[in-house]
Amino acid sequence: MSAERTLVLIKPDGVSRALSGTILSRVEAKGYTLVDLKMVSATRAMLEEHYEEHVGKPFFEPLVEFMLSGPIVAAIFEGERVIEGFRSLAGATEPTAAAPGTIRGDLGRDWGLKVQQNLVHGSDSAESAQREMGIWFA
Ligand code: UDP
Repeated sequence: MSAERTLVLIKPDGVSRALSGTILSRVEAKGYTLVDLKMVSATRAMLEEHYEEHVGKPFFEPLVEFMLSGPIVAAIFEGERVIEGFRSLAGATEPTAAAPGTIRGDLGRDWGLKVQQNLVHGSDSAESAQREMGIWFA
């Protein structure tokens, strides 16, 4: 099987809490290869494309506000089954429920906000990865 690639975002909470290095280091330590990296200030248009399946949901507007609230680190990681492997390392969407040992479980918690500030995003399929890499590394 040829090496797969995934799009990883360190969301504004991860950057503002100075966890970017820790998070990148955990992904590298699992064995995945960092192939591209940059800091991005997202636009609403990018976020509407990135989260197209969530447009119109109750958490969509708070999610966009959160993602516009500060810089984001965008990375591409490569490796066999990296899409599934990164999502496993990230943990469940809700940081309170995410298992210890995962990025969200170890480093995140709930903050009483309308949106889950859960530190990271990882593509959920090869098709999403392709589409999302086009948005963040256009
Ligand atoms: N989200 C939220 N409330 C929800 C569902 C999602 O705040 O009920 C936010 C959360 O930041 C999540 C993002 O929207 O990471 C995208 O949701 P998705 O279901 O794709 O979760 P993920 O794949 O990031 O775990």
